[in-house]
Amino acid sequence: MDHTTKSRPGYLSSVLRNKCPRCRQGDLFQSTHPYKLSTVLKMNETCPVCGQPTEIEKGFYYGTGYVSYALSVALSVSTFVAWWVIIGFSLHDSRFFWWMGINAVFLLAFQPLLMRLSRSIWISWFVRFDTDWKQSAQISGQTGMASS
Ligand SMILES: [Zn+2]
Repeated sequence: MDHTTKSRPGYLSSVLRNKCPRCRQGDLFQSTHPYKLSTVLKMNETCPVCGQPTEIEKGFYYGTGYVSYALSVALSVSTFVAWWVIIGFSLHDSRFFWWMGINAVFLLAFQPLLMRLSRSIWISWFVRFDTDWKQSAQISGQTGMASS
């Protein structure tokens, strides 16, 4: 058995649970309820566990638009396939338009989750999982303060 690390949360589960990509323990967001719309995108300034800044530079999250777009497309494709398999499409009735409407509602309902997930995915591309985050915590703490 692996005895070097007590717990090593997986990449996917930490991204899905909106955890800090560096220690995979701290929460990126202040509120754990994505459907409280006033706080849906309120992030902790730094990770409460390892001190990793969540906004690495100004406008860091502008690029998440592409991620949430890709996620929306992926969701639409999967509802399309599911609809195709379960209900089917025909040129002779309005099933296609039903799918469009239901898919739109579906996407809207998932929007808060998608927005958070895309930020989680985005920051995970820039910040690496660091098993020694406890040792290097002071160093990156200083670089995080440098811009103030
Ligand atoms: Zn952390």
